[in-house]
Amino acid sequence: MKQLTVILLILASALHAQKKDKYESARLKMVDSQIAARGISDAATLRAMRTVPRHLFVLPEDEKEAYSDRPLPIGYGQTISQPLIVAYMTELSRPAKGKKALEIGTGSGYQAAVLAEIIDTVYTIEIVPELAWEATARLKILEYQNIVTKYGDGYKGWPEHAPFDIIIVTAAADHIPEPLKEQLAENGRLVMPVGDPAKVQELILLTKKKGKITETVLEPVRFVPLKRLK
Ligand code: SAH
Repeated sequence: MKQLTVILLILASALHAQKKDKYESARLKMVDSQIAARGISDAATLRAMRTVPRHLFVLPEDEKEAYSDRPLPIGYGQTISQPLIVAYMTELSRPAKGKKALEIGTGSGYQAAVLAEIIDTVYTIEIVPELAWEATARLKILEYQNIVTKYGDGYKGWPEHAPFDIIIVTAAADHIPEPLKEQLAENGRLVMPVGDPAKVQELILLTKKKGKITETVLEPVRFVPLKRLK
């Protein structure tokens, strides 16, 4: 089954590389009607959302649903977030050339790809080995050379590459991991869903100025739980 998914993915990606992107109009419509129309205005974020072929990040059987207004399963009990949420977290992180990001929860690799369209380098960590492997293959096929993937527990961050201008956590916990706060650069921005992982969480933005961290509580959101490796 896994091999079949990978083969389909390779074929789909090859077609995409030949610019036979039959979903382009669906993608542009998604950005206009679901994202720009709901207040996302950062030009770089909108451009990235118009560029990344989301249909190559979902399960092959869900390809036709890739541009609809909802999260989708990616296997192993995990999900790719609704497009609006990805755009919102991206905009909140203030992506720009010259910046370096850490993402916890690679999943399909979609959020990492969106960031990588804008910033210099994205480091991303995934705790489910199969997802980590699949996302690494997918991002390589799609020729994202500025994304560095790793299998492991993102709770501890990635100290070897710290500090990060942007930290995006795409799984929920009842607190923000201390190592991630420490690995946030001066003027850095961290976005994470915080609250009861089994229920609804709040999207939290942390900013660091002169070493001091400020917290802003944003929208209610629903994410899968942040797991821990024993
Ligand atoms: N950003 C993803 C969506 C991720 S869903 C995308 O764009 O597709 C959340 C992901 O976080 C899941 O794949 C889950 O396995 C992963 N995850 C959960 N706990 C984690 C941890 N401690 N470290 C790294 N990844 C984790």
